[in-house]
Amino acid sequence: MAERRITRVVGVGPLTLGGGAPIAVQSMAATRTQDIDATVRQVELIEAAGADLVRVAVDSKRDVEALAEVRRRTSAPLSVDLQENYRLAALVAPHVDKMRYNPGHLHHHEKDRTIEEKVAFLAETAMEHDCALRVGVNCGSVDPRMLERYGSDHVSGMVASALEHCALLDQMGFERYVVSLKDSDWRKVVEGNRRFAAERPDVPLHLGVTEAGMPPEGEIKTRVAFEQLITEGIGDTVRVSLTLPFEEKGREVTVAREIIADIQAGRFRSVPASLDQGLNIISCPSCSRVENEAFIELAQDVKTMTAYAKDHDVTIAVMGCRVNGPGETDDADLGLWCGPVAVNLKRGEESLGAYSYDEVLGRLRVELDAIIAERAAV
Ligand code: SF4
Repeated sequence: MAERRITRVVGVGPLTLGGGAPIAVQSMAATRTQDIDATVRQVELIEAAGADLVRVAVDSKRDVEALAEVRRRTSAPLSVDLQENYRLAALVAPHVDKMRYNPGHLHHHEKDRTIEEKVAFLAETAMEHDCALRVGVNCGSVDPRMLERYGSDHVSGMVASALEHCALLDQMGFERYVVSLKDSDWRKVVEGNRRFAAERPDVPLHLGVTEAGMPPEGEIKTRVAFEQLITEGIGDTVRVSLTLPFEEKGREVTVAREIIADIQAGRFRSVPASLDQGLNIISCPSCSRVENEAFIELAQDVKTMTAYAKDHDVTIAVMGCRVNGPGETDDADLGLWCGPVAVNLKRGEESLGAYSYDEVLGRLRVELDAIIAERAAV
């Protein structure tokens, strides 16, 4: 196993990321942030499972008010996911140790301001409030400028976007940041992180396979990615993303610790060539944006209902909200993204309409059978 890369040291509250420090484990509250009691319970549950850092999603000023109360009621180091509303950083930063922004989401608001101005605002806000930042690049929401430049080569788009933001932050004299490059395909996670680490060996990396799905498949995909990268000395903090009921969210942390311990002890799983063959169900780990808690049951029902197609190379994506759901289902053969009362069904990028939670499985089966029949006829 290669020596750990010795990156810059990034302080996150009491925690040290990079610089050879032990690999930190984090997870994210899946509850609605404004449900303060549930969110505090979720933060405590994740912390009790052994997390070094707990992330909470914030989308609105009311979420920020809830976050402030969560901060008062827990001593866990907190990170926040800014998602699309980067301006909330000024309100969020006093309450947290780290903020994640997605370069692919900076273009949504204030289109008259440049990306440089927005990054400068984030860096200045973080500096003022003693916060770290994460540049969180995601294959499903790559900066549109990079999509134009690299087309369907999303890994190159992700790496270029991450490198661009590192250069911007460095020019601004802000070095207290880590980077993540995530995808639901473990191979793209490995390739993207390897390429980024070769260019910027000094920057700490947060590893994760996003929307890995349910156990055990979600754990296996994540384990394979982490085995490849951590054995090459890459990775300073990790998150395992699994679709789980709220009360089982601590499992993300215990699985992460088990994977790290196994790798460090030299216990590896073989990677069977068949890992990527057959039916592949990806599903998001859920977060405060989930529009209907029936999403988690739906993801499990999709897995059960489609078991008959296990030998067919079909990818089905099940996502919990309208924010990331539409984009992150584009690459799947069949996609479902959940709204408050209906589930939107897609075939590739084409919408097939919205169905009630009761109806959608039947329609999904029709579409899955059609794909299997079309491929058999070729
Ligand atoms: S798809 Fe939506 S609900 Fe699922 S984790 Fe992403 S933001 Fe949260």
